[in-house]
Amino acid sequence: MTKILVTGGAGYVGSHACKALAAAGYEPVVFDNLCAGHDWAVKWGVLEVGDLLDRERINEVVAAHKPAGAIHFASLAYVGESVTDPGKYWRNNVTGAINLCDALAAAETDAIVFSSSCTVYGLTKAPFINEAEPVAPINPYGNTKRAIEIMLADYEVANGMRNTVLRYFNAAGCDADCEIGEVHDPETHLIPLAIAAATGDRECLKIFGTDYPTADGTCVRDYVHVTDLANAHVRAVGRMLDGGKSDIFNLGAGAGYSVREVIDAVGRVVGIPVDVIDDARRAGDPARLVANISHAQQSLGWQPEHSSLDNIVSTAWNWYRAHTVAAQGA
Ligand code: UDP
Repeated sequence: MTKILVTGGAGYVGSHACKALAAAGYEPVVFDNLCAGHDWAVKWGVLEVGDLLDRERINEVVAAHKPAGAIHFASLAYVGESVTDPGKYWRNNVTGAINLCDALAAAETDAIVFSSSCTVYGLTKAPFINEAEPVAPINPYGNTKRAIEIMLADYEVANGMRNTVLRYFNAAGCDADCEIGEVHDPETHLIPLAIAAATGDRECLKIFGTDYPTADGTCVRDYVHVTDLANAHVRAVGRMLDGGKSDIFNLGAGAGYSVREVIDAVGRVVGIPVDVIDDARRAGDPARLVANISHAQQSLGWQPEHSSLDNIVSTAWNWYRAHTVAAQGA
């Protein structure tokens, strides 16, 4: 079987990608330091515990497995923390990516898929963002993502290592079989927080900003199901292994929902209205971030098939219940 190195494969999007890779006949090799990932989430392929800041360890794992390609998820991803501790983000995200690319280059692995983010577009005003939109990240997390995108182009020139950059919009939802799901500590994402507020596991949900220039005054985002994201990675890997050229793809559902619309969907699916309180804007939140996904549809032959808002929220709710019950040992 063709081995694919998956850094961060014990994390939320990474573990869903491993499931999709295995279903497509690949053998994932997960490399994860388990600082945000979970060993229980590695259910497809082996887990090699290691930190990308440890050059020897990543060199050893790549040399041992000789993967045909790599998907690089491993990254610190809290925007707020990146503002207060930029060194931690630059050191971890960028140095980690350098060490990974060096290890891949030494093993002559010539294809990498990189998890980037729509955060590289900054405060864009484009209603539907395509890949040609100027990039202008506005926080250290986004800067590290953009820096790695630039760096990958340099590795291609030097080593012939082709890259596919996937810029995610809002990853959401969970595996339909509830084998894996979203577990962040701390949790900062809207949908799991709204579910916890509906069930009473958290007091109430703060709506960050109600005076945006949107229909209901709250931010509009493009929520894409994590299973759809996972499938896009499989397509990107296949394209790279077939000799495809380096490219950049936006991955979203191509539709926008406001914070209030998401909260209404959570109330509907859970069957209990979400207790909310209007709060101040969160620093660095653009009013609207919605993808134009035609490039991924045309060039990867990909469709966001699982990304209706109700399916996203239903799968997140199923996982929340399963995980909460499991965590309580019931
Ligand atoms: N949001 C909110 N309250 C929360 C968490 C998030 O109002 O407790 C809003 C946030 O301002 C943004 C949207 O929900 O407009 C999605 O935020 P999330 O953190 O889930 O993803 P992000 O867009 O930051 O990647």
